[in-house]
Amino acid sequence: MTMTRRDFLSASAALAAAPALGAGAWGAPLPREADIVVIGAGAAGIAAARRVMAANRKVIVVEAAGQIGGRCLTDISTFEVPFDRGARWMHNPDTNPMIRLARNAGLDISTAPLGQKIRIGRRNARAGETEEFLAALVRANRTIDEASRGRTDVSCASTLPKDLGDWAGTVEFVLGANATGKDLKDISAIDKARAQERNAAIACRQGLGTLIAKLGEQVPLALSTPANRIAWSNRDVTVETPSGKIAARAAVITVSSNVLTAGNIKFTPDLPRRQLDAAAKLGLGSYDHIALQLPGNPLGLARDDIIIEQSNSTRTALLFANMGSSSLCSIDVAGSFGRDLSAQGEPAMVAFAVEWLVKLFGSEIASAVKKSSATRWNAAPFALGAMSAAVPGGQPSRKVLTEPIGCMFLAGEATHETLWGTVDGAWESGERAAEAALRRIGALRDEPAASAPAAKRRRAPPPRSAAPGRPLN
Ligand SMILES: Cc1cc2nc3c(=O)[nH]c(=O)nc-3n(C[C@H](O)[C@H](O)[C@H](O)COP(=O)(O)OP(=O)(O)OC[C@H]3O[C@@H](n4cnc5c(N)ncnc54)[C@H](O)[C@@H]3O)c2cc1C
Repeated sequence: MTMTRRDFLSASAALAAAPALGAGAWGAPLPREADIVVIGAGAAGIAAARRVMAANRKVIVVEAAGQIGGRCLTDISTFEVPFDRGARWMHNPDTNPMIRLARNAGLDISTAPLGQKIRIGRRNARAGETEEFLAALVRANRTIDEASRGRTDVSCASTLPKDLGDWAGTVEFVLGANATGKDLKDISAIDKARAQERNAAIACRQGLGTLIAKLGEQVPLALSTPANRIAWSNRDVTVETPSGKIAARAAVITVSSNVLTAGNIKFTPDLPRRQLDAAAKLGLGSYDHIALQLPGNPLGLARDDIIIEQSNSTRTALLFANMGSSSLCSIDVAGSFGRDLSAQGEPAMVAFAVEWLVKLFGSEIASAVKKSSATRWNAAPFALGAMSAAVPGGQPSRKVLTEPIGCMFLAGEATHETLWGTVDGAWESGERAAEAALRRIGALRDEPAASAPAAKRRRAPPPRSAAPGRPLN
């Protein structure tokens, strides 16, 4: 039986090297001062910088990597089609700002067609089996939602019905590792229940990394320029980079929660313990794409088919086949299994992907692989992981991260209460932090009115209903 995309993706995460898309718009030497300095040119950083520019204030973005995008990174050179090494999907078409921005930037948007399947060994699941799986997913979502209303927060795993039978492992994978990069035992039920439903899978043909790079084209930024030290106070901030110092009246800091806690940026004075503890509770999960070029469609699947398997262990994956009608297939691994596998390196990841496909589709797959490439986000020095998910008890940390620290304002996906782990969540967080910084320097006098439309739209209470497998990516 074929599940609808909503059924399936609703449960699954979606689940990113772009070319160094030029040196950004900044060709001149690093400026010595700005009204607001932004650290990081991922989705949050580009959104923040554009918001400051819209307020006619001087901004400079410093980015450690050699390209714009952060965890949105499109590789256009390895395969015949763009390969998003990080984020791939946009969700919630009615409210997602990235979709409008992509259209306005002249990029092609396509909704992934229906047609997801579950494999049970070498065959597709029958209609009744798929129904059973969806029912198990609904029940699991419901128990997580119910537990999230309890007095104390608990792990998602501790809430699961005990009688999920043959579907327990698949439910665990779909709701845990594949949706958030973490196993359900490591995820807060409240955080998961508060996450806004992610109800469609919309791709950008040129890649989401290409989109963020395009949106950053007019932004003054310095690539390959890590912020090494930030001296801050209530009045101003100085950012030290290998290319010199930048003095500003406020800063928006968009680095991932793992980069923040790793101490790669030194703060003077130190960051408050309150924010460091909060970031630690929002550590990044593990999520990687193993891309295989399989010419001639040896899997016999349709364009953009998504496949999972009935599995009784965490050693499983999600297949996104024949991406955009090409011969490129992505095998996505995540959670504790994905973390251990990626630590073994790219050859081990590719070997697993081939072994997994052989198990599900037959031995001829092994000789069909023409080219491969695997991401290793945990080892990427400026990300150190994939996406944030709160540990049990950690959900309030998201709000803590939005509190001002002197004249510094944190942004990034981890700071969004309902759209964490997404590109649109990162984007909105960047706009919010930029507005807070603009108010701080007196460039916005009104209360958060300027952000009201976006904030209102997004702050609708998350649905409590347990749609089959609420998608988290
Ligand atoms: C494999 C994978 C799949 C995903 N799939 C999806 C999906 O399908 N849909 C979805 O919506 N989301 C998805 N996500 C999540 C999404 O990519 C992130 O939520 C989002 O891109 C985060 O943006 P950000 O701006 O908060 O952080 P980042 O993109 O991490 O940006 C932070 C920036 O700071 C820079 N930086 C770090 N240290 C320094 C320093 N010292 N000085 C200067 N700059 C520094 C980094 O290089 C980076 O560019 C996925 C993520 C991964 C990894």
